[in-house]
Formats: sequence, C-alpha cells, structure tokens
Amino acid sequence: MGTMGRKIVAAKTDVTKLIETLNKAFADEWLAYYQYWVGAQIVHGPMRPEAVVELTEHAGDELCHADMLAKRILQLDGTPILEPKKWYVASNCGFSAPTDPHIKKILQQNVKGEQCAISAYEKLLESTKDADPITYQMIYSILADEVEHEDDLQKLLKDLEIG
Ligand code: FE
Ligand code: FE
Ligand code: MG
Repeated sequence: MGTMGRKIVAAKTDVTKLIETLNKAFADEWLAYYQYWVGAQIVHGPMRPEAVVELTEHAGDELCHADMLAKRILQLDGTPILEPKKWYVASNCGFSAPTDPHIKKILQQNVKGEQCAISAYEKLLESTKDADPITYQMIYSILADEVEHEDDLQKLLKDLEIG
C-alpha cells in the first residue's frame, strides 16, 4: 500500500500483530456469513419468512465485513487467509452448525455468534484507538452492524415468545 499510509500505523502499533488480529476477524466473518446463509436455507417454524429475510440480510452484511477486512489487511501489506480450513483455526467465535433447524434454535445460535463478535470488535476497537484511525473507523462501523444484528435477532425471538 501507500508507504506513508503504512508508516503512520507502524509508528504507533505492531503492524504484524494488527494484521493477525484482522485476519482472525476475517475468519469470523466468513464463518458468520455461512452460518447465516445456511441457516436461512434450512430454518423452519413460526415466522419463518421474517427469519429468512433477516438471516439473509445479515449474511450479506457479514460478507461485506469480510470484504472490508480483506481490503484493510491488503493495505497494510498483509494477506487475507487464503485457505478456508484455516478459518476454523484463526476464528475467535467459531462455527455453530445449525443441526436443529427450528427457528428458535437458529436465532439463539446466531445471537451467541453476534455477542462473541461484539466483544471481539470491542477489544479491537480499544487496541486501535489512538494507533490506527483508519482501522479504528472501519471496526467502529462493523461493531455498529453487529450491535444491530444482535438487537434484530433478539427482537425476533421476543416476537416468537408472544406470537
Ligand atoms: Fe460481521
Ligand atoms: Fe453480525
Ligand atoms: Mg437486520
């Protein structure tokens, strides 16, 4: 990437470590994407159509987060993880296979995933604050999406209870 752009980051933070952390988030996003995507295919139960819309939308958001992270990793002269099998190793939040396709179970699994993502991004936000404004702003915006995702899922769960 631009040498000056990298230099201002390197002056304040360990870029190798930062790239590693961003790659962990990158792995999380791909796994989250697939968890939502496959969940939207198989989910059943009350309010299925509403859940399919929400899960599909969130899958798209997670893929967009993966894209943002890959572009920042490349700007920092890193390489996004090249092999899907390494996603499992690098991931903070892992993958919960939706073996029970009931809507309640699927939503609960995804809430858990979002809560893990929120806490991982909170840490990343803290570590980039005052060190790397570009990454900080990107993480800030991803975190806002994850907070919205958790809220959307919990609202759907609440509607299920009273519906
Ligand atoms: Fe995400
Ligand atoms: Fe999310
Ligand atoms: Mg939503």
